[in-house]
Amino acid sequence: MNHVADLASEHPPVARVSAATVEPRTPGTHAAPERRPLASVDRPTVSFELFPPRNPHAAPRLWETIRAIEDVRPDFVSVTYGASGKTRETSRTLVTQLLRETALNPIAHLTCVGTSRAEITTIVEEFLDEGVRSFLALRGDPPVGQPDWRPHPDGVDTAGELVELLREIESQRCIASPSQAVRARVRPLSIAVAAFPRGNAATGGTRAQDVASLLAKQEAGADFAITQVFYEADAYLGLVAEAREAGVVIPIIPGIIPATDPARLLRVQELSGVPVPSSLLDLLGNADDDLDRHRRGIRAGVDLINGVLDGGAPGVHLYTFNKHHAALDLLEGAQLTGSSRSATDSAPTHATPTTPEG
Ligand SMILES: Cc1cc2nc3c(=O)[nH]c(=O)nc-3n(C[C@H](O)[C@H](O)[C@H](O)COP(=O)(O)OP(=O)(O)OC[C@H]3O[C@@H](n4cnc5c(N)ncnc54)[C@H](O)[C@@H]3O)c2cc1C
Repeated sequence: MNHVADLASEHPPVARVSAATVEPRTPGTHAAPERRPLASVDRPTVSFELFPPRNPHAAPRLWETIRAIEDVRPDFVSVTYGASGKTRETSRTLVTQLLRETALNPIAHLTCVGTSRAEITTIVEEFLDEGVRSFLALRGDPPVGQPDWRPHPDGVDTAGELVELLREIESQRCIASPSQAVRARVRPLSIAVAAFPRGNAATGGTRAQDVASLLAKQEAGADFAITQVFYEADAYLGLVAEAREAGVVIPIIPGIIPATDPARLLRVQELSGVPVPSSLLDLLGNADDDLDRHRRGIRAGVDLINGVLDGGAPGVHLYTFNKHHAALDLLEGAQLTGSSRSATDSAPTHATPTTPEG
């Protein structure tokens, strides 16, 4: 069976859009598009990853990004969470602020490695009490450089177990309170998980192992998956085909990094173990100047987005690194900023930037 073709039925193939005319966005001159009532149902989903500000000085820039991405009415934004709960407070604060102070729909990342079951239960209760209804359940990575580190004896060891625990906590809350049970019907708990187009290099996992893990996460109650960064559409489409073959039916959203800054790509390679193709590094390295590099990176990213959407991807999740210009230029190039993916409603109109960012 051709599972890539099967995928196409999840989202109708879209016309390939030329990236040749993409003009970068001018920092600071992003004009709010006219508010439309609702995103068209036929638009692929659009979402962004943010991380909590590392210090108070980083907050204004993050909020500039939040306000800019609000304008394209994303389906959701996800907020990262440090392994071993390192960012527990700042992540929760940001998720709560997004819920209360913006029109965005936040998904709280949650990691379980090194944390006791009781502690995770408390953290989840805190999020639920704040009104958070969406989680990205992750294992997280054990700390590096600590050879005597051991998992918590009463911990949760895999993302699949964390999904199960989340479902259990929600079910106990519904049993304990009929009002909560009604609220849960109105706003059901939604749980996303991670998927790895090339296998998870951080755990030494092959793609086959990670497909098995994805199936376990689905069986535990996951609703959809978001992938790690990748650079060729075939890596994503191959993962989806393999996952479908194994019985994974949940949507798998491709995670896309705006490839405009070679230093950032190399840093991501170091952290994730996902190699940056030398052709992409050459493309960026041979640019005449920053602006040319930005344009080249956006064109490469638009081609990647077109490749995965043409192959049936349900949408795109953009890794922003808390910066919006490149992410929004990518969306604009792929004609995903408007209410539908059509040739007329999102022609790039932005002038030359003075300080391209990655
Ligand atoms: C979209 C995305 C967002 C992320 N956000 C964060 C974040 O906010 N904070 C953070 O610290 N990290 C984050 N990560 C990184 C992630 O925590 C690490 O990649 C971690 O190594 C694996 O997490 P997991 O949830 O996939 O773990 P798991 O699915 O538990 O997998 C861990 C290992 O166990 C194996 N495994 C687990 N269950 C099974 C099974 N049933 N059968 C076979 N093998 C199994 C897997 O193959 C894998 O090798 C993110 C990753 C992605 C893709």
